Amino acid sequence: MNRIYLSPPHQSGAEVEFVNKVFASNWLAPVGDTLDSFELDIKNYCGSEVCALNSGSSALHLSLVIQNITHDDYVLVQTHTHIATINPIIYQGAIPIFIDSEEDTWNMCPQALEEAVKNCLAGKYGEAKLPKAIIPVHLYGMPAKMDGIMKVANTHGIPVIEDAAESLGSTYDDKHTGTFGKMGIYSFNGNKIITTSGGGALVSEDADLIQKAQFLATQARDNAPHYQHSQVGYNYRLSNVLAGIGRGQMQVLDDRIAARRANFERYKKYFAEVNTKGYSIQLQQEPQGSFSNRWLSCIVINPEVNKGLTREAVRLAMEAKNIESRPLWKPMHLQPVFEKYPFVSTGVSERLFDVGLCLPSGSNLTDEDFERISSCLDSIFS
Ligand SMILES: *Cc1c(COP(=O)(O)O)cnc(C)c1O
Repeated sequence: MNRIYLSPPHQSGAEVEFVNKVFASNWLAPVGDTLDSFELDIKNYCGSEVCALNSGSSALHLSLVIQNITHDDYVLVQTHTHIATINPIIYQGAIPIFIDSEEDTWNMCPQALEEAVKNCLAGKYGEAKLPKAIIPVHLYGMPAKMDGIMKVANTHGIPVIEDAAESLGSTYDDKHTGTFGKMGIYSFNGNKIITTSGGGALVSEDADLIQKAQFLATQARDNAPHYQHSQVGYNYRLSNVLAGIGRGQMQVLDDRIAARRANFERYKKYFAEVNTKGYSIQLQQEPQGSFSNRWLSCIVINPEVNKGLTREAVRLAMEAKNIESRPLWKPMHLQPVFEKYPFVSTGVSERLFDVGLCLPSGSNLTDEDFERISSCLDSIFS
């Protein structure tokens, strides 16, 4: 039986036409018309200015460079995330301070954030100083509690950089995730809700910041006929060819969101039925005012209220049927590479890691796939 993946790419069919146009023009370069058009597609969608880049990771890195984050600066960052959120902080020689999650959205807890700011100002982590940035993440597509986070940020005058890699199309109070902070980033990696096979974008309402990002992402070349440089830059721009894939994907973004949300509803219905048989499986909640793209559908299996059944037993049973599922992100404060950095705990992310599971969530999941998944789950939840 073929493998059912967690989140495979899903072509619209239009990608190849856009890519062919690039080939016909021979503009197989890192910048060009198609890249400009792709940026405009994203701008028309989310409302912010856009600089398309070769990954979400490089978008995060550039955002920190633009924010002048440097050696020994404090950066307050969500612990429950993918490592790409953290690495650029280390590249800059800054100090990540890990902030735990709250129960509702599984994202950065505004109270823990406030506590961390106070700790920084009190010198609890070394030199007493204001943190240089706050990085919340909208995990699995679910918007973080942005009103609470922005309130802490505005009270203390700390810029927010949103990691919206997983949440393109998700909104909070009808505003796109990625557009609340000073800057936001999206990812177009192969497993995200739309893909350029590899790519990302930095977005901001501030056109000057985006211009600066474009400059830095193309080796910081000054305006001169020869190659002239007065600062260090990066080779981070998205290829014009890959932007063609992105243009074809942007056409169907809303359909992809609808399909992923339909997956979630199917799982919700399925587990409501399971829960009538003495189980208590929980799904990630969507609070009032939030709209999630439901990039991944996730469940929580607490063995204490599920007849001793563990997350790992469910994962292995699915794996035996060639169905991919994955534990929720292992919190970054538990990663050996980051264990020396400070952490403000609520207990939520560690518990989620113990009991949480991401289920197959592709927008191209078929009825047959879902049949296979549910009959596998039926054998577990008998
Ligand atoms: C995928 C992802 C990234 C990194 O994006 P790339 O395009 O793979 O570099 C960053 N943060 C989160 C939360 C992600 O899921």
